[in-house]
Amino acid sequence: MWFTMTEMDNDTKQKTSLTLRDKYSAEISKEDFNSELTVAGWVHEIRNLGGIAFILLRDRTGILQVTAIKKELGAETYKLLTDLTKESVVSIHGLVQPNEKVSSGFEILAIAVEVLGRAKAPLPLGVSDEDKAELDTKLDTRLDSRFLDLRKPNITAIFKLRSTILSAIRQHFEGEGFIEIQTPKIVATATEGGTELFPVQYFEKPAFLNQSPQLYKQIMMATGFDRVYEIGPAFRAEDHDTVRHLNEFTSIDMEMAFADELDAMGVLERLIRRCIKLINERNSKDLELLNVKLDVPELPLKRVTYDQVLELLKDNDLELPWGEDIPMEGMHIVAKTHPGFHFITHWPTESKPFYALPYEVNPKLCRAFDLNYGAKEITSGAQRVHNPELLRSNLIDKGLNPEAFEFYTNAFEFGMPPHAGWGLGLERLVMILTDLPNVRECVLFPRDRKRLVP
Ligand code: ATP
Ligand code: MG
Repeated sequence: MWFTMTEMDNDTKQKTSLTLRDKYSAEISKEDFNSELTVAGWVHEIRNLGGIAFILLRDRTGILQVTAIKKELGAETYKLLTDLTKESVVSIHGLVQPNEKVSSGFEILAIAVEVLGRAKAPLPLGVSDEDKAELDTKLDTRLDSRFLDLRKPNITAIFKLRSTILSAIRQHFEGEGFIEIQTPKIVATATEGGTELFPVQYFEKPAFLNQSPQLYKQIMMATGFDRVYEIGPAFRAEDHDTVRHLNEFTSIDMEMAFADELDAMGVLERLIRRCIKLINERNSKDLELLNVKLDVPELPLKRVTYDQVLELLKDNDLELPWGEDIPMEGMHIVAKTHPGFHFITHWPTESKPFYALPYEVNPKLCRAFDLNYGAKEITSGAQRVHNPELLRSNLIDKGLNPEAFEFYTNAFEFGMPPHAGWGLGLERLVMILTDLPNVRECVLFPRDRKRLVP
């Protein structure tokens, strides 16, 4: 909102202000009837009947009806208004009048019009058409004109939910004594080695975009911070082009000291519960638009072991060699028995990264867990190895060069407490809670194999 006020006006205490908007459409009530005010937004629809025209004006709270009468508005202003292209931006000053034929119960009788931004025609993407069935088929077209796509309330709803989830996450971590940190995204060493890295040229040196804050958040456990979390970008040059993978995603990471994997799982399940509670409190209208109902899950969340999963797969004619990660086909079978949130625990040590801590009694198994929703993985975590000798030998076993990891293993040489943590993909969580079929829906400007613009 802006206004101009000259010195002279100031002296005479007369404000010659130009207010672009007094109220949002949803803020207008009976109390405003028969008084003048200014509204502003995008031209959603125009119906011109010659001497009278109806303009649907959309703002972030909804849509209201502006009625323009040629005789009262004057031919020139009437033409200015009715010639406007759809999606142009206007500010309209008018009289609020009760009108029972309009769903909101009122209309604004236009007195003055200011055009703030004209839209070209035709639009690359229809906005007034809110058909949810179009979500999938036109995703590429929608993403090309994301700013228009985001004018649709059922699309905005996704990002309102995302924002609530982030609020809940921050509330939750603060409530449980975590401090928020930021770690570097340009790094010299890959977290887990592998091919999923984007190389960057860092002056004379080769470097990478970080795939996870894993090593840095673990170093923080040697500082005395005890409980840290980070919300930041992670970059992965994924081989596969799927509906669950992005090449840039937002990673929610936590690490806690003097703790084991069960402590980390507890923080996670309470966080999921809080997210759902806060969404139900704040976003009932958005849930309606998305056609989603969210039940607050009972805690503790269900837990199954890797061996139990293998048994279940075997009962369903899928025999998996012990030690292998569970393929998508297997996850779909698991989802039939466990459709909601469930942890998978007690993973084979060989299937998890070098920093997952093996059980002392049976080192073939480690203290790692995944949290899934149906067939979709949302979190991986573990109690970590905190003994530097074991860490070095694990690195060698996984074919990694311990020298490249010295900046990390050093932190384990001078007093490192036992610790545990996890990483959760924000977009995966949003995708699950909005019940959307493609993770690209849950990020404003997705980066995938084919998409680098906009
Ligand atoms: P997946 O098996 O689903 O590819 P991952 O096991 O390789 O995931 P982790 O390294 O465990 O992924 O990362 C922790 C979390 O980060 C995952 O559980 C997931 O929620 C999220 N995540 C990982 N890779 C991606 C990606 N490419 N796009 C979106 N989210 C991701
Ligand atoms: Mg994982």
